[in-house]
Amino acid sequence: MKKTIPVIPMRGLTVLPTMVLHFDISREKSIKAVEAAMAEDQIIFLVTQQNPDDNNPGLRNLYSIGVAARIRNVAKLPRNIVRVMAEGLERGKLLGIEDCDGYLHARVETIRETETEYDDMTKLAMTRGLEELLKRYGQLNQKFGKEMLRQLLEIHDFEKLVMAVCVHLPLSYEQRQRLLEAEDMVDRYEQLCTMLVQEMEIIQIQNEIQQKVRERVDKNQREYVLREQMKLIQEELGEDTLLSEVDDYIQKAEELCASDEVKERIRKEAQRLKGLSGNSAESGVLRNYIETLLELPWEKMSEDNHDLKRAAEILDEDHYGLEKVKERVLEFLAVRSLTEKGDSPILCLVGPPGTGKTSIARSIARALDKKYVRISLGGVRDEAEIRGHRRTYVGAMPGRIAAGMRQAGVKNPLMLIDEVDKVSSDYKGDTSSALLEVFDSEQNCRFHDHYVELPIDLSQVMFIATANDASTIPRPLLDRMEVIELGSYTSNEKLHIAKRHLLQKQIERNGLKKSQLTITKTALAEMISGYTKEAGVRQLERQIGRICRKAAREILEDGAKNVRVSAKNLEEYLGRRRYTFQKRNSQNDIGIVRGLAWTSVGGDTLEIEVNTMPGKGELVLTGQLGDVMKESARAAVSYVRSLGEKYQIDPEFFTKNDLHIHIPEGAVPKDGPSAGVTMATAVLSATAEIPVRADVAMTGEITLRGRVLAIGGLKEKLLAAKQAGITTVIVPEENRADIAEIQDEIKEGMELVYVSTMREVLDTAFA
Ligand code: ADP
Repeated sequence: MKKTIPVIPMRGLTVLPTMVLHFDISREKSIKAVEAAMAEDQIIFLVTQQNPDDNNPGLRNLYSIGVAARIRNVAKLPRNIVRVMAEGLERGKLLGIEDCDGYLHARVETIRETETEYDDMTKLAMTRGLEELLKRYGQLNQKFGKEMLRQLLEIHDFEKLVMAVCVHLPLSYEQRQRLLEAEDMVDRYEQLCTMLVQEMEIIQIQNEIQQKVRERVDKNQREYVLREQMKLIQEELGEDTLLSEVDDYIQKAEELCASDEVKERIRKEAQRLKGLSGNSAESGVLRNYIETLLELPWEKMSEDNHDLKRAAEILDEDHYGLEKVKERVLEFLAVRSLTEKGDSPILCLVGPPGTGKTSIARSIARALDKKYVRISLGGVRDEAEIRGHRRTYVGAMPGRIAAGMRQAGVKNPLMLIDEVDKVSSDYKGDTSSALLEVFDSEQNCRFHDHYVELPIDLSQVMFIATANDASTIPRPLLDRMEVIELGSYTSNEKLHIAKRHLLQKQIERNGLKKSQLTITKTALAEMISGYTKEAGVRQLERQIGRICRKAAREILEDGAKNVRVSAKNLEEYLGRRRYTFQKRNSQNDIGIVRGLAWTSVGGDTLEIEVNTMPGKGELVLTGQLGDVMKESARAAVSYVRSLGEKYQIDPEFFTKNDLHIHIPEGAVPKDGPSAGVTMATAVLSATAEIPVRADVAMTGEITLRGRVLAIGGLKEKLLAAKQAGITTVIVPEENRADIAEIQDEIKEGMELVYVSTMREVLDTAFA
């Protein structure tokens, strides 16, 4: 049956018979078509556009098969939109199209559904097949409503079911079009099944993709959430600083001037810090360690100044006298700058306290523009003090050398090792061998500190050691060092040092101006002889400091303009004189002889007393005597006994009397063989009852046969003798050459008697 009916070209929508639907139209022609249909039998032909974007489609752009539908309802919406509700009735073939009266007219031929012959079994099978598919589809596609599925599954009529599925399944308009165009029910059924299966596959793939996406998103999300939570927890625990601290350490490690090995180590340790709680003991230890590593100089260097002239000027500027020392230091520096490397031996300044060892070292550092660090080894017995403790120890610290490097901040500082003669070794390890490694240029480029663990390069360090007494420096250490001796100062030298250096230094240190304090030369001389007794100038400096403080008070409290200290008013400032100048005995005496001794703190006189008493020939020794001195005492007694006859001593004297040798006073233990002559003289004087001259002092080692051997420390001894008011000093002949090097100032007013045998000693000593 052919007829002409108004037509609406549908965009993206295909209507099937039995399908009820709403759709909106806005095109003028479509609205007119609806109006025309409504005016008649409400039948309209709905045919789908092949291209939904075409605004004015002709026959060619329309599918050839559409549906005749009954309009159920028309509603006008704002903006010229008309909502149509229609129900698909039967399929129709579009034969032609005509545009008149303002809308499209379609010539349509109704398509009769070809009746397919199939038996009930087939129908049932197909129905069940479709139902199965539908169920699976319903399970897969969660969006497909359960209610809809239930309703569909309630339809048991095959054809109705197929049509219902075609209508309700969410399909594209192309798919629906194909279903519409299907030849018969079986064809439609097959196509529908194919579509269902395809849809399911697509959904499955979609689900899988979605699952994967979800997993990925979940993971990211999880991490994000966890991280946020961690931040919160750390904030609560006060650990938020920890993270930034770790980053800070890593950042600093990057900027550090060091090898990759060091940087890597810091990075690793910083990472470890992350896992620890902020204020645990372990994190404290770790933090300390990282900071130590960060502060060590590693590759950082400072530029040296090789200007020798300037160095000489600076040494002169800072120190009075010490010509020989300065000369040797300059030679040493010259060689050092020529060889470029620290292969040269290590300087060791040896001398009594206060003679300027430390201050020379400081001057050298200033002259070379080097950083200066001082490490004091006095009393160091544990190797760990030098090499550090392993980090597993509680309270572990880097050793003194590593700490010194850290303090210096550059790898080429001048490191003063103070008091090397005071290191001692005990069960805790050998300190001197650790020091040996520090000094050895072969080994010290990779010095191992137990705490730091990474090798530290000490090869660029300039070491200077100081000692009071070279003889107590462990031998292997001494071999590596070049000893420069600084002797005691004479009174005159002290006076100059005080005037040129100490006074000014103390005035400045105590906040005074130069014009505010004058200490006269006589006052200084008086201070040197009456208030100090030392080889160096440390006590003197302290006394000057005392005067400065008192002067400062006077200026502030009493409004004095300036303070003048002379020999007359010195006592007001420093109290009574402490040391009397005249120390020698006032008269010649039997059994009392003044010897001269050298100690690590300078020279001293040494009074030896000998007494005899009835007894059994025993020898008693008391006072501060070392082992060597005891041996000298025995040798002296043996020698004196051999002279018995000559001095008319009763041969039985030595078996019927005890001899007591005593050395009174002496806070500093003295030892050494140089008291030999003194003891022999004293013993002989006591036994033969011959008085000894009070103005004579002596020094010299003695052999059993009465030969006098050379001794050391002559300058200090002579100075001590001079201070004690001695005018004649007996000196071994072998020491004559040394005397030439001693300043005239010391020798002035003193008679030196050179002797090679005990005989000559006695000749001079006995009154
Ligand atoms: P040491 O290290 O030998 O025990 P210091 O170097 O500490 O002695 O010296 C003590 C003080 O004496 C320092 O203030 C130092 O500057 C000063 N001093 C020592 N010798 C001289 C000198 N020859 N010229 C100037 N000052 C000196």
